[in-house]
Amino acid sequence: MDADAVIVGAGPVGLFLAAELRLGGIRPLVLERLAEPATERKARGIGVLATEALTRRGLGPRLAEAHEEGERDFARDHGSPLGHFANIHKLLPDNERPRTHIWQPDLEQLLAGHADALGVPVRRAHRVTAIESAVDGVTAIVETPQGEQRIGAAYLVGCDGGRGKVRSLAGFGFPGTSPLLRTLAGQVQFAGPVPPAGRYADGTFMHGGSMAGVTELARDGEPDGPVTPAELAAAIQRVTGDEVAVAEVRNSRRFTDQARQADDYRRGRVLLAGDAAHVHSPSGGQGLNLGLLDAANLGWKLAAVVRGDLPEALLDSYFRERGPAGAAVLRNTRAQSALLAPGPHVDALREIVAELMDLPEANRYFSDLLSGVDHRYEFPYPAEEPVGLHSPDRSLVDDDGQVSRLSDHTRTGRGVLVLDPENRDLAALATKRVEVVPVTNTESFLLRPDGVIAWTGGEAELKTALDAWFG
Ligand SMILES: Cc1cc2nc3c(=O)[nH]c(=O)nc-3n(C[C@H](O)[C@H](O)[C@H](O)COP(=O)(O)OP(=O)(O)OC[C@H]3O[C@@H](n4cnc5c(N)ncnc54)[C@H](O)[C@@H]3O)c2cc1C
Repeated sequence: MDADAVIVGAGPVGLFLAAELRLGGIRPLVLERLAEPATERKARGIGVLATEALTRRGLGPRLAEAHEEGERDFARDHGSPLGHFANIHKLLPDNERPRTHIWQPDLEQLLAGHADALGVPVRRAHRVTAIESAVDGVTAIVETPQGEQRIGAAYLVGCDGGRGKVRSLAGFGFPGTSPLLRTLAGQVQFAGPVPPAGRYADGTFMHGGSMAGVTELARDGEPDGPVTPAELAAAIQRVTGDEVAVAEVRNSRRFTDQARQADDYRRGRVLLAGDAAHVHSPSGGQGLNLGLLDAANLGWKLAAVVRGDLPEALLDSYFRERGPAGAAVLRNTRAQSALLAPGPHVDALREIVAELMDLPEANRYFSDLLSGVDHRYEFPYPAEEPVGLHSPDRSLVDDDGQVSRLSDHTRTGRGVLVLDPENRDLAALATKRVEVVPVTNTESFLLRPDGVIAWTGGEAELKTALDAWFG
């Protein structure tokens, strides 16, 4: 075996997963087809849960630095600093649980540095072309500048993006819906007057700062590759009715709202995470949140199984927990597509949704829908909320009055058992992969390495939770 786990793809999800595996004490190896990191400015932000996941690993200050620039760019390009549902910009920020605006290349650089500091090997210009699965491992067939190589590992995880090969090579199904809408966008220089941004009878024209984009109903036979100035000008004219001259399109993107999800995230020793497991429209900026949380969920579990601390059946909880989270995002992005489609009936529906969003409870509902903070995992033992929910970061006060953050105790990737004064004797139950933190300012709880609350309550329940997640 060349590694315990081969990760195919050094995108944000692959890099974060590899770092999590390393924290879990096993040997990951990342294979990436590109010789150099991608510079494409796709995502411009990560949601609340991904921000918290990275903060748990000590990356909070770096995210905060990037956020300043990202927030400015977001407000400039969207014409509003507020979050949106289907481009209705009304979502109020949650100051207790903030998201982060960070451009994808900056995020990838940050995660590459994090993985590197942990000693994760990343082999670039290594394209996986085939995989061979056996009972005790997986072999990746890899095209490299030195010729073909065979790289063996106990497990292989496809983090190779929406168009990745691992999914089909391993025989996963990928059911879902075909595109309803298609968007062309980029940093555009116009050579003449620009029509007003807004919804038109046949689509939407977006224009803010240097960004411009046009959304229309999807058509068969869409071309691939970079968007040309002529193509963009023709699309803008179709939608707005105005003739425009486009001088240049930089950082162009074309994307649809096709929504698909793998029918499982594991087939034997091959697993999927990130866009490889689910694709959907970028509306509401949820792809990275979903993918990074897949990595957070899978990393410690796969490490525990490879270390032999827990049986392989633990890996089944990965899809049980993350499958519904992915389905929830597909559902809300489909709803957003319905609200972004052209036509007077949709105009009327948008007005009603916009009015609803003025109600504080509805505003919160839409924010939670996009952030996923109220998405609760189904556990193999009965428990009530907050068990199954991701914990926010919070202040902890010890017996001497010293204040720390929960995230100060999670950098090593172990679990955390927070014990109030009445439950200190339960510390004896903790295994070596659980740090015990005595506190005076909150009730006792157990945190899994992925930040999910696994227990509150009595001794018997704690034993059950520790057995289930730490062995
Ligand atoms: C226009 C646009 C805007 C977006 N905005 C947002 C946003 O604001 N917020 C958000 O959260 N998400 C957004 N997204 C989605 C986000 O970009 C993706 O969810 C994210 O890139 C997924 O990360 P990933 O690591 O799963 O896959 P990717 O980033 O696609 O990385 C996959 C990696 O695998 C490599 N690879 C592929 N095949 C192979 C192979 N055979 N062998 C080796 N390596 C291989 C690729 O080169 C790549 O480096 C947006 C997407 C688009 C298109």
